[in-house]
Amino acid sequence: MPKSQQRQATVAPAPTPRRPRPGMEYRARSDEAWYPARVLVQDGWLRVMFENFLEDADEWYDPVADLASPGDVDALRARFRRESPALHDARCGDLRPGDRLCLACDIYGDADELKYYDAVLETVEKAAHGTVDGVERCACRFTVRWTEGPRRGCWDKVGVEVVCCVQESPIQDPVLTEFLDDVRNRFGEDQEATAASQEAAPTPAGSRRVLFSLKTASERLARRS
Ligand SMILES: [Zn+2]
Repeated sequence: MPKSQQRQATVAPAPTPRRPRPGMEYRARSDEAWYPARVLVQDGWLRVMFENFLEDADEWYDPVADLASPGDVDALRARFRRESPALHDARCGDLRPGDRLCLACDIYGDADELKYYDAVLETVEKAAHGTVDGVERCACRFTVRWTEGPRRGCWDKVGVEVVCCVQESPIQDPVLTEFLDDVRNRFGEDQEATAASQEAAPTPAGSRRVLFSLKTASERLARRS
């Protein structure tokens, strides 16, 4: 099983297979940027697959080593969210100061190296919209403060073309939810097991799944006495 690997700029060659977008995005461990991604569980590990990247960019999570505490599970859950749609030119009036945005960050001055990080909208400088080939084009300028990435803490003035809108509603991905809930529930069993061993009660039902947790609990008890 591969351990987490460094993400490389191995963009899959065109044409991209036609299939529905993943509908969710993931903040990569390698660069903390957001990418459209989908997940599956393979041999008990969570495999995160980046849209339009080859599989050597996949990130893997070992439910035992990588998710050793409830906090680890919550942190992993927070790496996923609904995909942030691009701001439509005609909808710029919907934005309000304080809105969370996800912006393309042109780190190296190279369009192929765009990475997406979060920012907060500070102000909007309205401008009359034009029309190109019958399509409305937003000419407003958005002052943003980066909250992530290499420009974190910096202010920038950007155009509609780099703005995506962070969605607050929770994602609905059954595979991800089931994996995270299973790991999270393990810690509940861990606490039950600790309580049970403290009372010298019989081993609780389902103990096979918490063998390693029991070991941890008994080590904690040994240290305490
Ligand atoms: Zn506008």
